[in-house]
Amino acid sequence: MHGWSFERFQVFLGYKCALLGIQVVYADARYTSQKCSYCGHTSKANRKSQSAFECQWCDLSLNADLNAARNLKNNYLAARGTSPRGGLPVRAPIVSAKYQGETVFTPDPSLALETSPRF
Ligand SMILES: [Zn+2]
Repeated sequence: MHGWSFERFQVFLGYKCALLGIQVVYADARYTSQKCSYCGHTSKANRKSQSAFECQWCDLSLNADLNAARNLKNNYLAARGTSPRGGLPVRAPIVSAKYQGETVFTPDPSLALETSPRF
């Protein structure tokens, strides 16, 4: 895709997907690489490297592209007024805690709404 304009890519993607009956949707991509898809904490420090994401608030650690993709999904669903599991938009509760710099509880990422495999 190097050298392609995003507009041209969107036109081609829309055309190909229409032929296959696949719906193309758009979502706000701002800060998706810095925002934790679990707790919502947004910081440049969350991005440890090109491929590693580590939330400075809840300690969620996962592939940076996967985290960004989950944020895109969440942004799209929030713009539609739905959560990943249906109903009204909600944010996963922050259930992690740090005390005097030490993590005293780490959330189970599989319980996060954003980790729903249905998207
Ligand atoms: Zn987090």
